[in-house]
Amino acid sequence: IIKFNHVRKSFGRNEVIPDLTFSISQGEFVTVLGSSGSGKTTTLKMINGLEKPTSGDILISDKNLKDTNLVDLRRHIGYVVQSIGLFPHMTIAQNIAVTPKLLGWTQEKINSRVNELLETVGLHSADFAKRYPAQLSGGQQQRVGVARALATNPPIMLFDEPFSALDAITRQKLQVEVKQLHQQLKDKTFFFVTHDINEALYLGDRVMVMNQGNIEQFASPQEVVNHPASEYVKNLIDTVR
Ligand code: ATP
Repeated sequence: IIKFNHVRKSFGRNEVIPDLTFSISQGEFVTVLGSSGSGKTTTLKMINGLEKPTSGDILISDKNLKDTNLVDLRRHIGYVVQSIGLFPHMTIAQNIAVTPKLLGWTQEKINSRVNELLETVGLHSADFAKRYPAQLSGGQQQRVGVARALATNPPIMLFDEPFSALDAITRQKLQVEVKQLHQQLKDKTFFFVTHDINEALYLGDRVMVMNQGNIEQFASPQEVVNHPASEYVKNLIDTVR
């Protein structure tokens, strides 16, 4: 469902990604690890067109991004970031409904989808729908971010360090939830960038380890732990043993 074919990306003279080729199947949960500046976020942003490759091809569901309307593309790709950027003057329900509204859904359809999504992310009790973002904890806001990204039922979900600003206990809880969510939403592809090695190993069907814009290893967590493909991967894994 996601294919990179000899993708290169530079910012001015700074070549961040020299030559990246990989493919991800529908339904996979891929986590992306690598030290700061290794190109994780740049790779993620190229998937939804927020960054353009300098050369090479990216195919999403067999369609070349070069031939894709970016607005349509982003409706097909949910995006969850660390600072979720909920609109403070809108209720939780209104925040989740932003894209459906733009798409002209009826209010009835919107209401039922919002309720369904709040249930999906565990916020269906109490009056969460009517509250404002400031009245929610960081973890609850992050759940709303996930619900909002899921609103139009996109086949691909991108996560860029969504839990890094949260305390350890909340983070652990959300890790369990996001894993369950992936299992529950069959056939959705998750691409999840993180600094947290344990998080990457726990969540991923496959872990992509990046270093200086290259893939050091792209394999199951067991494989990465038991058979690190390079000194870089081995050192990374050793830090959590
Ligand atoms: P981190 O874990 O710190 O978020 P990362 O692996 O996600 O790092 P990227 O954010 O992809 O790394 O950045 C890779 C490199 O590209 C860095 O050297 C960064 O300075 C550079 N870079 C990223 N975005 C831009 C930009 N818009 N303009 C110029 N350079 C950029």
